[in-house]
Amino acid sequence: MRLVLVGPPGAGKGTQAGHLVKRYGLAHIATGDIFRANVQSGTELGRMASSYMAAGELVPDEVVVRMVVEALASEGFVLDGFPRTIPQALALEKELEATQRPLTAVLALTLDEEIAVKRLAGRRACSSCGRITNVELDPPRTEGTCDSCGGRLVRRDDDDEVTVRRRLEVYQESTEPLLTFYAERGLLRLVDADGSEEEVTERLVAALAGSR
Ligand code: AMP
Repeated sequence: MRLVLVGPPGAGKGTQAGHLVKRYGLAHIATGDIFRANVQSGTELGRMASSYMAAGELVPDEVVVRMVVEALASEGFVLDGFPRTIPQALALEKELEATQRPLTAVLALTLDEEIAVKRLAGRRACSSCGRITNVELDPPRTEGTCDSCGGRLVRRDDDDEVTVRRRLEVYQESTEPLLTFYAERGLLRLVDADGSEEEVTERLVAALAGSR
């Protein structure tokens, strides 16, 4: 299966991509994670991307496209956070046509903006295992500590409210037009992201019923 997961910040793309990857045995290609890893290890790509990310803006298309094309070796994958613009979607379409690997479906997670802001305010990631938790909606057993591995919980630099609002605007301006783009290609499946983690996973699985 070759899937694209789209949705506003806070919709749970990373978490749900993790479930789809396990369930269907797919590669997980998360552009935000690739950028954050590059920022942390101080590569040239990371230095270039960091100012865009800190401001909640998009990294330029040509940089992201080059990076994704290099990562697209697998037969089955979930693209998480890419494409985010029409030019990125066109570049992806061209690459997949050239390698005869058409997309199976585009899963668009839908979520009310205020719920997204609330979710992101409490979002923390484990610095050790990467697990995402929410300190307000589902507090960990020990403050600041990951329930799974005991690692330290950290807040993403771009999860402050001002940057979150900008990221939501950028989503509406640049990414939402993808919904029409993929609806026209018969690939779009809308999935309500307001619910528990398990409920949303089940909705995604139901939306994929009959797909291979
Ligand atoms: P994410 O983890 O998906 O929320 O991405 C975090 C940040 O990385 C975004 O706010 C952008 O600055 C950058 N980024 C991730 N994916 C893309 C993309 N497909 N196009 C442009 N910028 C991206």
